[in-house]
Amino acid sequence: MPTQHALDSTRAREKLAAMNKAEPVDVGLRCPNCHCRHFYVVYTRPKVNGRTMRRRECRHCGRRIVTYERVG
Ligand SMILES: [Zn+2]
Repeated sequence: MPTQHALDSTRAREKLAAMNKAEPVDVGLRCPNCHCRHFYVVYTRPKVNGRTMRRRECRHCGRRIVTYERVG
């Protein structure tokens, strides 16, 4: 039944949205292109002005981003 199906998919979408909202934000680092969180580290350069530079590449779309992490 199309009506029931539409209801189910709406519910599934709401559940997914709730799950995404519950995810901790401070872990990452999301791909600006596809919003996934899975990166390869393709290059690490230690200590640039006291920070570690990492070049990462998105596993899904290949988008490259650079992050700077303060060394604790
Ligand atoms: Zn991506």
